[in-house]
Amino acid sequence: MQSRIIGRYEGEESGPLLICIAGIHGNEPAGLQAIDEIFRLLSIEKDFNPGFSYKGRFVGIRGNLPAIALRQRFVDRDLNRMLLVHEQERIKSTPEDQWSSEDRESIELVKAVEAEIADYNPRATLILDLHTTTADGGIFTIASTDAMSSRLAKGLHAPVILGFEKGVAGTTLHFFNKPEESKHCIVFEAGQHNDPQSVHRTAAAIVNCMRSIGCVESRDVDHRHDGILINMSKGLPRVTELIHHHRIQANEMFSMHPGFTNFQSVKKGDVLAVNQFGPIESPYDALVLMPKYQPQGDDGFFLVRVIE
Ligand SMILES: [Zn+2]
Repeated sequence: MQSRIIGRYEGEESGPLLICIAGIHGNEPAGLQAIDEIFRLLSIEKDFNPGFSYKGRFVGIRGNLPAIALRQRFVDRDLNRMLLVHEQERIKSTPEDQWSSEDRESIELVKAVEAEIADYNPRATLILDLHTTTADGGIFTIASTDAMSSRLAKGLHAPVILGFEKGVAGTTLHFFNKPEESKHCIVFEAGQHNDPQSVHRTAAAIVNCMRSIGCVESRDVDHRHDGILINMSKGLPRVTELIHHHRIQANEMFSMHPGFTNFQSVKKGDVLAVNQFGPIESPYDALVLMPKYQPQGDDGFFLVRVIE
């Protein structure tokens, strides 16, 4: 198994701590590859750009080690639905030999993030959680409604989805976003899992975050990164809000109809999926997000509405 920490890079000047987590879902390698690419770029930047300076520390962390090794979303449970204080307490009060694979991962991941923050003790921390989706069609960021989160999310030039912290429980956003402690968390979804462009888009998102929080100067950032993200977001809404989450119940024989893409517009009554009781219709005029085309997971599909 690989190590939890992918790497650390520290500038000469102090500044914010940027932690990128990739592979919380083991079947999403783009974030891991993008973090490797960022470490490579940071290591050679001064050769091309002697005036380059980095403020702060950058850390790459692997999310779910056994799932990454198996290249599957998870082993026993979706790690990105169990990041909750009461889950942490449940696990800690259970004997370790009874822990599931994700019980262990959630304890180890939280411990790793907390150790990085304690070690660097920065004035501000940004956790960027990197994902990809099974469906094609667009990049997006998932953010909380606090001012800093929205500002950071908009800086990524990708559609911002609000309302996830109310609609879905136990994600990184819930656990790590604590604006009152200057800890922020946003999620970046880079496109389809195995699209090579998802790696470039993720690398661009990391660089944009470094600029937004002041780790690098705008003059040191290649405009190519903005271009990649702006291009991909063309025609997509700027801000949307989660209005519906089809959570798959135990024993539900859920099957998404083929061909839906992220941000595809649907009408109330359109058939989106089917289960053993018959067709599942859209309860709203809305846009589809993250339709389920992978075997694992309890999220059938999400519906969002345009705010901006
Ligand atoms: Zn994911």
